[in-house]
Amino acid sequence: MILYRLACAREHAFESWFRDSAAYDGQRAAGLVTCPVCGSPDVDKALMAPALGRGARRQETEPAAAEAAPVPAAPASRPVALMSEKEQQLRAMIRAVRAHVEANSDYVGEDFATLARRMHEGEEEARAIHGEANADEVRALIEDEIEILPLPVLPDERN
Ligand SMILES: [Zn+2]
Repeated sequence: MILYRLACAREHAFESWFRDSAAYDGQRAAGLVTCPVCGSPDVDKALMAPALGRGARRQETEPAAAEAAPVPAAPASRPVALMSEKEQQLRAMIRAVRAHVEANSDYVGEDFATLARRMHEGEEEARAIHGEANADEVRALIEDEIEILPLPVLPDERN
C-alpha cells in the first residue's frame, strides 16, 4: 500500500491509498480516482512534502528556517566533576562523623564483628567500638539485628 497525496484541477488536495503505483495509474485512467471535494476525475499526484511526522507538515508560507539553521557542533567533552557547596558540606559532615566515632569509641580493627556479636550476646561489656568488617560479617550482623553503622569512606582517604 502506498499513500498518494493528490490534487484535482481545482487544486483540492487530498490523500488516497493505493495497492501500488500501477493500481493508481489504472484507477486514474478509468476515472475512478475522484476529488472528494468536487468529484472531478481530473486528479494528479501532488508534490510530496518531506515526511516530517504527523502534524508537522510544513505550510507553503512557512519559512524553511528549521532546515537552514545549522546545528552547532558540540565542543569536545571530557569527564569532569564539580562539587557543589552542598557536597562539600556533606564531605565535611562525613569527616565530622568519622572523627566523632573515632574519638569516642575504641578501635578494634578486624575483631569488630566478633566483639560486636559478643557484646550483643552479653558476653562482653557493651562499649562503643569501631573497626573493620567484611561484607559477609556485616550481612551476618545485620541479619542478627545487631546495630552497626557503616562508616563512609571518602575517596581521598582510601589507602
Ligand atoms: Zn476538486
